[in-house]
Amino acid sequence: MNIETRILEPGQIEAPAGQIRFLILPGHNLFKSRAERFRHLSPGHPLGEYLAFLALLADAQQKALNTFPVLALPDADEQAICREHGMPLLAARSWSRDPVWRDGLTTILQQMRDAVLPPTAQETIAGLQLVNVSGLEEMADRILAEDLAGISPQELPFVAAALQVYWVRMAAGLGEGAFGRLEQGGVCPVCGSLPHAGIVFNSGAEQGLRYLCCSLCASQWHMVRIKCSSCESTHGINHYTLEGSDSAVKAESCDDCDTYLKLLYLEKDRQMETMADDLATLALDMLMDNEGKSRGGPNLFYHPGAAL
Ligand SMILES: [Zn+2]
Ligand SMILES: [Zn+2]
Repeated sequence: MNIETRILEPGQIEAPAGQIRFLILPGHNLFKSRAERFRHLSPGHPLGEYLAFLALLADAQQKALNTFPVLALPDADEQAICREHGMPLLAARSWSRDPVWRDGLTTILQQMRDAVLPPTAQETIAGLQLVNVSGLEEMADRILAEDLAGISPQELPFVAAALQVYWVRMAAGLGEGAFGRLEQGGVCPVCGSLPHAGIVFNSGAEQGLRYLCCSLCASQWHMVRIKCSSCESTHGINHYTLEGSDSAVKAESCDDCDTYLKLLYLEKDRQMETMADDLATLALDMLMDNEGKSRGGPNLFYHPGAAL
């Protein structure tokens, strides 16, 4: 593993905060692009079968998103109150979920049931199709609270996928102006979840800027570089890369709180997609675990108890 010490000061190469777009909401083809990236990464990859499975799951998410019914969303008054108080408008842990999120899960499970999958995945799908409403709601509560007790690594991606579709649908249904900045820079301004990774753009108005990527709603929000997303320390920040990699993905670690977050540098590979490339670089997570560092935010498809 290679370790680099910091070479930039926070904000050193960035425009003043007021001129920077602070929030980028997910697009309507998010899951289609994600599926394509999973498919691109899968051949010859040590986790190829897993990535190919996730490509199918992303296809199913796109189908669920495309067929999602119109949702009731917070009105202008609610939006203004949240902006004024610096609260996430669609807070994952306190939001009253519309039952239609489970229709999205039904669509995903039906779509996946028709795919060519290993018998264990088919058994998981059949099992989830039998779980009653309260069981599914409890699983959702646990996933959103990052308490995965009682949820198997096999079940997690399906239920998390449906929750992602629901939150992406809500986020995309509101404009960026609906949301305000939060005091805590490392938390999603849309849903209050933690980021699963960060991305450094290589072109356009966002060139050279770092955005954090929400693990749930896929919104991206600006945070200056060389700053820990967990504790906001700017000291003791180091970057780790896999030996022999092209350094397109680095783990940015913090000595103050011993967490890390992966950063994807689009200048090294413009085709990267945050979820897909995060999951394709789980080897880096294993190395960081050996270094005694833990992830600064979850990837909802990855169960920490799963054997790879
Ligand atoms: Zn979010
Ligand atoms: Zn920290």
